[in-house]
Amino acid sequence: MAGSGKTTFVQRLNSYLHTPGGKEPERQRRAPYLVNLDPAVSHTPYEANVDIRDTVDYNEVMRQYNLGPNGGILTALNLFTTKFDQVLGLMERRADEVDYIVLDTPGQIEIFTWSASGAIITDAVAASFPTIVAYIIDTPRTTAPATFMSNMLYACSILYKTRLPFLLVFNKTDVRDCGFAVEWMRDFEKFQEALASGGAQEEDSGIGGYGQGRGEPTYMNSLMNSMSLVLDEFYKHLTAVGVSSLTGAGMDDFFVAVSQARAEYMRDYLPELARLQ
Ligand code: GDP
Ligand code: MG
Repeated sequence: MAGSGKTTFVQRLNSYLHTPGGKEPERQRRAPYLVNLDPAVSHTPYEANVDIRDTVDYNEVMRQYNLGPNGGILTALNLFTTKFDQVLGLMERRADEVDYIVLDTPGQIEIFTWSASGAIITDAVAASFPTIVAYIIDTPRTTAPATFMSNMLYACSILYKTRLPFLLVFNKTDVRDCGFAVEWMRDFEKFQEALASGGAQEEDSGIGGYGQGRGEPTYMNSLMNSMSLVLDEFYKHLTAVGVSSLTGAGMDDFFVAVSQARAEYMRDYLPELARLQ
C-alpha cells in the first residue's frame, strides 16, 4: 500500500547489503542491483541502477496525454514496459556480480499489481531469475481487525495472481511490534476475539464503523469471522517477518526467509514454468 515503506525498505536492503557481517548464510554481502519502477516519486533515498524516470517523464506524460495522476503512472509504466527487454538484458549482464536484484514498485501499488504492464514485468523477471514477492505492511496502521483483514485479503490476491513465493514484511516495528498480527495469523480464534471486543478500531479504516457492535453479530462481524477461516488456509502458505526499515531491526530474519523463499521458487515455481513452456 502507498506509504507502507516500500522505498524506505529498499533503502534498508541496500544499506544492509553494503555492510559486512551478520547472520546471513554462507555469502559475503555484495551491493544489490536496484530498479525503481515508480515514475511519480520525486526522490529515492537510494541510487537506482535502472530508474523508470530516466526513460519516461511522468509530468510530461500527464500533460501530453491529458491524464490525471493514476493514468499518468499507468501510462508511464506501459511506456517503460515496451523497453523492459533491455532492462532484463542489463540485469542478465550483471548476474555474475550481483546476488540480489530489488524492484521498488509505484506508490499506488494496484497500478502495478493489476495492470498488464505489471504482469508483464513480473512474469519476465520471474522467468529469468529466482523471484520473490515481498509484501510490505504498515504495522502501526493495521492494528484494527478490519484493516488487518483487508490488508491480508489484498496480499492474498497478489499471491494468487503472481503465484510466486511470498513474504509478508511487517514494517515499522520501531513504532508498533508485530506480535499481535503474528498471533492473529497463527490463531484465528485470537483474531475473532479481537473482532468481538471491538479491538483497536481505527477511525480511518473506512469500514470500521460496522464492527463496533461490541460482540453483537453485525453483518461485518460475521463476514469477517467467516473470512478469517478462509484466510487461515492462506496464512499456511506464507512467511511473516517483522522489520524496521528505519532502524534495520529484523533484516537478518528477512534474509533467512528470502533464502527459504528462493528454495521454494526452485522447487515449486520453476518446474511449473517449465511445464507451461
Ligand atoms: P512507499 O510509498 O511504500 O514507498 O513508502 P515510503 O518508503 O515512501 O515511506 C512512507 C513513510 O513511512 C515515510 O515517511 C517513511 O519515513 C516512513 N517509514 C518507512 N519505513 C519506516 C519504519 O520502519 N519506521 C518508521 N517509523 N517509519 C517508516
Ligand atoms: Mg515508494
